[in-house]
Amino acid sequence: MAAEARQRLTVLSGPSGVGKSTVVAHMRKAHPEVWLSVSATTRKPRPGERHGVQYFFVTDDEFDKLVANGELLEWAEFAGNRYGTPRAAVLDRLDAGEPVLLEIDLQGARQVRESMGESRLVFLAPPDWDELVRRLTGRGTEPADVIERRLAAARIELAAESEFDTTLVNTSVEDVARELLALMEVS
Ligand code: ADP
Ligand code: 5GP
Repeated sequence: MAAEARQRLTVLSGPSGVGKSTVVAHMRKAHPEVWLSVSATTRKPRPGERHGVQYFFVTDDEFDKLVANGELLEWAEFAGNRYGTPRAAVLDRLDAGEPVLLEIDLQGARQVRESMGESRLVFLAPPDWDELVRRLTGRGTEPADVIERRLAAARIELAAESEFDTTLVNTSVEDVARELLALMEVS
């Protein structure tokens, strides 16, 4: 059988609290064949998060080594922690012809746009600012000072929406998950 054609990488970005993880989890429940990259981070796990599932939780030294060894496709500092995408797994899955999704911040999306120009960049936007604040606060996973840092980052991310190929507004998780699957040509 002929080898599968290499797939186009899809990047999903958007401000913290907009609903990226919720949309992706919903989408993957129906379509587990969509491969979601697991990032490395220096952030501490939230209750219920497990090493190797939501993230690879690493120390600062371990993160330094990943960077020094060129093992990250992209990485960024976000609201006081570092996050990065392990390169090898992403390239392997793309080569295998699988639909691959990265859920990363704006700085990471910009790096992917530079290094993998054929990528599809999708921006997830909130219905409005007040709803974003409600979602981020309502999630209840961060103290007030961290929420403030994330909202400051959100203002910058929202201003960069036009850099993306497509914007999806997260009013309904079901609708956005369907639209994302359509963009990724997964049926
Ligand atoms: P992100 O991954 O972008 O930081 P989350 O997926 O953690 O955001 O979602 C933040 C909060 O918003 C969660 O409490 C989630 O349940 C809620 N949420 C996500 N999408 C919607 C939506 N369409 N309508 C209402 N609440 C939502
Ligand atoms: P959280 O701490 O809420 O899980 O994630 C904070 C931010 O980091 C989110 O915008 C998320 O998309 C982003 N992020 C997660 N993994 C990566 C990554 O590997 N690289 C980059 N650049 N950002 C990431």
